[in-house]
Amino acid sequence: MSVLPCGGVEESSEPEQNAAVPVSFQKEVQIMMIKALMFSALFAGVGSFAYADQTFEKDVFKTSGGELGVSFIGHGSLLIAYGGRTIYIDPYSKLADYSKLPKADLILLTHAHRDHLDPEAISLIKTADTAMVIAAICSSAIEDGVVLKNGDITTVDGLKIEAVPAYNVVHKRDDGQPYHPKDEGNGYIVSFGDKRMYIGGDTENIAEMNNLKDIDYAFLPMNLPYTMTPEMAADAARSFKPSILYPYHYGDTDPGKLTALLANDKDIEVRIRQMQ
Ligand SMILES: [Zn+2]
Repeated sequence: MSVLPCGGVEESSEPEQNAAVPVSFQKEVQIMMIKALMFSALFAGVGSFAYADQTFEKDVFKTSGGELGVSFIGHGSLLIAYGGRTIYIDPYSKLADYSKLPKADLILLTHAHRDHLDPEAISLIKTADTAMVIAAICSSAIEDGVVLKNGDITTVDGLKIEAVPAYNVVHKRDDGQPYHPKDEGNGYIVSFGDKRMYIGGDTENIAEMNNLKDIDYAFLPMNLPYTMTPEMAADAARSFKPSILYPYHYGDTDPGKLTALLANDKDIEVRIRQMQ
């Protein structure tokens, strides 16, 4: 299978190291308790996910099904914690040491480009019990995945997952082929209790986005020339009005441009995380 990259990763975007936290067993119990409280204030409440020696930004949302934690691994990769499950979107081994991250209950793959379908990352988090939901283009590399075509819906361990279109209209290779042809890749809408998350995959502001409804959290790519300009992403966001919009997979594109373009769209909050 020919796998074409849809964008590079800046080496400088690698996750920062988490400084070791010294623990003294010589202190009085009271002092240790105070330290424990300080530790939880530092690491539980300010939006980071630390595992082994890696730290990632993390947002936590309340849903009718409990807390939804979204850790921002980088590029197009997310780590989601919900209802005791660990869910990965497009894990990519250049971004993190997946051998030190939690094993996956579910992995979603949007398409087969190597920064989205990475067998090395998958091999480090997959177990015999891991479910995989994939686009058909990924099936030659992933033999045991649940294949969803655009429009298909499945339920995995109680999570409803809907595949939606993701493709280029404007941005094409020199030979005239879109970087991401129609009907090949998937975006996904995943329901977490009463909240709905839309993960765009590699796409432009396509007409089908007008059909997206009740999206609470949206991820839209701006890695150029493979996906959207900030103007295209702003147009996409206005078509379905997510409550919170994360530009992701944005490469060298300045995500602040999207914030500026949507400054007057008060019903859309643009949140910028480290997702180069
Ligand atoms: Zn791609």
